[in-house]
Amino acid sequence: DDHLLSSDPTLEDQGLDQSIRPSDLDHYIGQTEIKQNLKVFIRAAKARHEPLDHVLLYGPPGLGKTTLSMIIATEMGAGIRTTSGPALERPGDLAAVLSSLEPGDVLFIDEIHRLPRHVEEILYPAMEDFCMDIVIGKDETAHSVRINLPPFTLVGATTRAGYLSPPLRDRFGVISRLQFYSPEELSMIIKRTASVLQTQIEEDACFEIARRSRGTPRIANRLLKRIRDFAQVESDGVIDRETARNGLSRLHVDEAGLDRVDHQLLMGIINQFHGGPVGLDTLAAAIGEERHTIEDVHEPYLLQIGYIQRTPRGRMVTDSAYSHFHLERKDRN
Ligand code: ADP
Repeated sequence: DDHLLSSDPTLEDQGLDQSIRPSDLDHYIGQTEIKQNLKVFIRAAKARHEPLDHVLLYGPPGLGKTTLSMIIATEMGAGIRTTSGPALERPGDLAAVLSSLEPGDVLFIDEIHRLPRHVEEILYPAMEDFCMDIVIGKDETAHSVRINLPPFTLVGATTRAGYLSPPLRDRFGVISRLQFYSPEELSMIIKRTASVLQTQIEEDACFEIARRSRGTPRIANRLLKRIRDFAQVESDGVIDRETARNGLSRLHVDEAGLDRVDHQLLMGIINQFHGGPVGLDTLAAAIGEERHTIEDVHEPYLLQIGYIQRTPRGRMVTDSAYSHFHLERKDRN
């Protein structure tokens, strides 16, 4: 099904996530530079008996932002409260969360770019001075009261830092961009997940799934689970390279890890727009996908592997993509 590779967590993932999420920095695979820096910042903050400075994590879905925020809380020896931009509709929603924080807590706000502006404004004094101004009463009796908050660390996650308003972005002391994972790193993650799931998997099978997981741990874990089903029902339960390859093709994941939507996207540009350039909205309408799904879920990896290029006049398919489909570029006429 087309949702197999979607990077949104499904309900099933959320249950699995609890057990397979690494719980400390040393078990968090990859993202070496971010980890090294965070280790220093965390040690320094702890030595000063202060909360860690506010952290903004950005990058495509499924790369480990939520996981990292939980690890930050654990490493700080602090509690964590989790919410998301769309869940905080009114200023009162955010005020309630802020006033329930314990000293040192981590407040994780996923999709922070989707905070409504009037809610976001409450965050400015909260982040800067650990206080908030709330309005009490109505009309002529209305007055604003300043409430002190315990010191806390805000960890914000977003698919792209460019979505954030400058005043919000400026209030983060640490801004880190998560990178796609290498096949070697994903292979380690798959091995670890398999052992949590008590599934036997051979080394080359790990690598086969890893190199087709689009650099994304969430996708690697999801593919592993489905292939485990094939192995369990149709063979002896052990995942070897053949089982992995069979499973992947039945899940419509191609040699480069591309799924049906990626194919539609690339073939759409090739067939309907002579390889591009084509504007994002035109493309979205042509293939019947939402603009933001293309932008956040599909495009980043296709850009990373050099199958598409972003130009001022729109998206273009590259020669590598043409050769992936064994096609020749035709001249526009
Ligand atoms: P995001 O918040 O960026 O969408 P998540 O933190 O929810 O991503 O991670 C998705 C899944 O991938 C989780 O199940 C998590 O256990 C796994 N994962 C992510 N990053 C790592 C990592 N560095 N090491 C091991 N597992 C990871």
